[in-house]
Amino acid sequence: EMFGQLTGGLEAAWSKLKGEEVLTKENIAEPMRDIRRALLEADVSLPVVRRFVQSVSDQAVGMGVIRGVKPDQQLVKTVHDELVKLMGGEVSELQFAKSGPTVILLAGLQGVGKTTVCAKLACYLKKQGKSCMLIAGDVYRPAAIDQLVILGEQVSVPVYTAGTDVKPADIAKQGLKEAKKNNVDVVIMDTAGRLQIDKGMMDELKDVKKVLNPTEVLLVVDAMTGQEAAALVTTFNVEIGITGAILTKLDGDSRGGAALSVKEVSGKPIKLVGRGERMEDLEPFYPDRMAGRILGMGDVLSFVEKAQEVMRQEDAEDLQKKIMSAKFDFNDFLKQTRAVAKMGSMTRVLGMIPGMGKVSPSQIREAEKNLLVMEAMIEVMTPEEREKPELLAESPERRKRIAKDSGKTEQQVSALVAQIFQMRVKMKNLMGVMEGGSIPALSG
Ligand code: GDP
Repeated sequence: EMFGQLTGGLEAAWSKLKGEEVLTKENIAEPMRDIRRALLEADVSLPVVRRFVQSVSDQAVGMGVIRGVKPDQQLVKTVHDELVKLMGGEVSELQFAKSGPTVILLAGLQGVGKTTVCAKLACYLKKQGKSCMLIAGDVYRPAAIDQLVILGEQVSVPVYTAGTDVKPADIAKQGLKEAKKNNVDVVIMDTAGRLQIDKGMMDELKDVKKVLNPTEVLLVVDAMTGQEAAALVTTFNVEIGITGAILTKLDGDSRGGAALSVKEVSGKPIKLVGRGERMEDLEPFYPDRMAGRILGMGDVLSFVEKAQEVMRQEDAEDLQKKIMSAKFDFNDFLKQTRAVAKMGSMTRVLGMIPGMGKVSPSQIREAEKNLLVMEAMIEVMTPEEREKPELLAESPERRKRIAKDSGKTEQQVSALVAQIFQMRVKMKNLMGVMEGGSIPALSG
């Protein structure tokens, strides 16, 4: 699980707010200490942690009560929004040149995954319909050039090489000429990675940058190096001027510090992330999705968002009534399943149901199949049974009849009946109105 430790650390914070009515300076003190500790353990840099905690505290205390939303849920949402902000808010798209080839210059220390990123990036851009060419500029390691050629073949992208005796800036010039001749859309140049920053490396990069006049200069950094990655982005930006970072190895047991610190520390966004060794494992960096993953609470987040929206329209009571009065019988269930079928995808709907925030495509397909089964059973119910699921809970005979008429098993019918009561209880919990609603046991 990515950032599992961080997620766990943050969960400790929420758990301390159970039973509170409202967020106060006093009752958030301990949760805030948990958050601070979790972020530091994730290797987020100290000044960033300080600002983050301060900002979350200020907002949380000033929030007041949102009808139906519990304080711990409120804090989850506040932390989420601050995490998104911390990571730059919006996704930061790659820029493309208005005319002529777009040039992307890649820099980075040795071993961070730079050569791999060259090919992954070409693979990614090819999928967007762009033709690519790679330029091998690591003249200090012949093996790096060979590796790039092999990777280029793997993704069917040409690689321009000029051996190790030519200066990188000259390779860049020749490579770019070649790319223009072939009407290539995007040129990606690999450069030498050293074990550590040195003046020679920076000078060489500056020379290459001058020749290429690149649209993007991206520093490849390794997520495993935590806040050190953020410091590197700052240094490279000050020295040569970069447009952003690519964060690799996010699939490993990285603690999250790099993802959370880069933007805040350096002012430069993370544009793409590497999440595996395969050529397909490169994707845009979405701050909101990342924050959602860190918190692992898609359901709570979307619920609080909805509630806040409603508050803004001063309709909170209305929503509550709607959910409460729609006692959620089988008719509602059927309406929902049909609406879902119409929407074609269940992802969003499932995300709204408490406890079902994290669903995979195969789970969705499974759920869609289940819905068909449920529909068949509801269709053979009498109108009375649809409105009063209690009737089915109380009567094994009725359940037997429904099983027979719908061609399903009695177990399937029982599961459906149990499910509707669970959904009712969840909805009540969700609104913070318990009404002592317990799940009636199935008799028989
Ligand atoms: P370079 O020295 O910066 O060019 O690094 P390489 O591209 O040769 O990559 C170094 C190692 O890291 C290789 O074994 C890659 O397969 C691996 N690697 C690169 N990116 C990722 C990633 O996102 N996830 C994982 N798990 N491994 C990666």
